[in-house]
Amino acid sequence: MNMSSATGGFVPTNINTGMECDFAVYKTLLESTKAIPWKIDWATMRFTYIGPQIEPLLGWRQDSWTSVDDWSSRIHPDDRDHVVNFCVSQSIAGVDHEADYRALTKDRGFVWIRDVVHVVRNEQGEVDSLIGFMFDISERKRIEQELVKMQKKLEALSFEDGLTRTSNRRLFDQRLEAEWDAGCQAWQPLSMILLDIDHFKQFNDCYGHVRGDECLVAVAGALQQIGCRERDVIARYGGEEFVLLLPDTDESTALELAKRCLLVIEALAVPHAKSDCSPFVTASVGVGTTIPSADSRSRDFCELVDRRLYAAKQNGRNRIMSA
Ligand code: GH3
Ligand code: MG
Ligand code: MG
Repeated sequence: MNMSSATGGFVPTNINTGMECDFAVYKTLLESTKAIPWKIDWATMRFTYIGPQIEPLLGWRQDSWTSVDDWSSRIHPDDRDHVVNFCVSQSIAGVDHEADYRALTKDRGFVWIRDVVHVVRNEQGEVDSLIGFMFDISERKRIEQELVKMQKKLEALSFEDGLTRTSNRRLFDQRLEAEWDAGCQAWQPLSMILLDIDHFKQFNDCYGHVRGDECLVAVAGALQQIGCRERDVIARYGGEEFVLLLPDTDESTALELAKRCLLVIEALAVPHAKSDCSPFVTASVGVGTTIPSADSRSRDFCELVDRRLYAAKQNGRNRIMSA
């Protein structure tokens, strides 16, 4: 293959002597790099050159790359259309470009490729040919995917309570704002259940903090059993307080769910010798329902539910206060 066609008509000269260089040197250099050089004639849409490195990388013989169809048919079907459309439109516009895609290998696998394309024009300014390099970026993609996975894991961890593995306050605050906005838009009720374990300080004093922690884990696990929907949030609100955020949930359904919270905690039957309201661990609950609106604030709603929780404590604990 002629090197001047592979370099788009560019004739290399030695920068020190001004002498024309030996093509063999350039050919050897091009064909010994990991990047795979290629050239396509624009008029015929045929390969006039592709580096021999293509065969060890993808398995397709060097001489099997004849037209752009060979190139496009060897792109992963999920990448093919957008990559081909993008490269064609950029080439027509005469714009240098690059595209990442999965190139199919002869043995039915794929290799991530970055194709860097330079549009060569003739003296009249018309597109003459495309020259480019294919780079094997599999390793980079693998690391990128690994990073995305780690980032997702970290994000999930940042919304998780370390002890109980339920959602944490951070997630609750974020979801409350989102659901508040959604409720404003949709004119739908939003309910909240705030739950606080009774006499938990005495529980710790009596049984120790390790048992206290175990109790919190058990309560969190029990709350997961009450049959919430995907969109509902169950979060640890603070020390021994949990909160349930129930979008599109009316007052009677919220009250029903609050009763179930008390039932599942009761069913744990965790002994609490120092409680004055039951021989077992119990909780007090405040429940509220509102229709969010632009002139009301989520904070005021939280305070309303908190006041009801306080009233439940005042009225003897192990009970629910609702509207
Ligand atoms: P009340 O019935 O009025 O709610 O009384 P209480 O004792 O439950 O409430 P108080 O606010 O006086 O005490 C809460 C206790 O919860 C004190 C604190 O040590 C304990 N606590 C908070 N977070 C944790 C935790 O992560 N692990 C353990 N073991 N205890 C915790
Ligand atoms: Mg408390
Ligand atoms: Mg408490």
